[in-house]
Amino acid sequence: MSETKLREDICRFGRSLFERGLTPGSSGNISVRLDDGGWLVTPTNASLGFLDPGKMSRLDANGKLVSGDAPTKEVPLHTALYQTRAARAVVHLHSTHSVALSMLPEIDPRAVLPPMTAYYMMKCAPTALVPYYRPGDPAVADAIKGLAGRYSSVLLANHGPVVSGDTLEAAVFATEELEETAKLYLLLRGLNPRYLSPEQVTDLIKTFGLVLPDHPH
Ligand code: ZN
Repeated sequence: MSETKLREDICRFGRSLFERGLTPGSSGNISVRLDDGGWLVTPTNASLGFLDPGKMSRLDANGKLVSGDAPTKEVPLHTALYQTRAARAVVHLHSTHSVALSMLPEIDPRAVLPPMTAYYMMKCAPTALVPYYRPGDPAVADAIKGLAGRYSSVLLANHGPVVSGDTLEAAVFATEELEETAKLYLLLRGLNPRYLSPEQVTDLIKTFGLVLPDHPH
């Protein structure tokens, strides 16, 4: 896919996420890995709703800015996932239900959500919880790297999700799936809902070739 098309796609998906209230203000950021090993990243202090394809931060393979505005300060969240997974795109949002979920006391750090729906299991599961770090603390990247690429989606406590994908579209859709599943969890919390049974999860794993590290169920 051409870099011009990727720049336009980042703007299009960013606007869509912003307009649906999935990341407020200037929060959230998106990156896409390019064939030369560099990245396109959304700029610092930019709202995902009003991105300019010509101002996108273009980084080289060493993370150095080659053109465009200065990149988001949250670049280390993205590079930590790229360094441990063969991902092509990373999406990070401050999406309300996922952030709310990250603060609940019962959350299993190896799987923040139970097996609620087949699509969550197929697109994101499991999602690991990364402890709280203050913004800009480089230790958060080390915490993500410590997961050794076993998770395609992580949830930063009191902050928001970071989700990788083979394409930008896949990363965006997986982030949306995580947010919607977090919303379902909050809706059902305390109502003793029926989640997928271990047999149903095993069937999904077999049928769709899912790889679930530390599978807790
Ligand atoms: Zn953030």
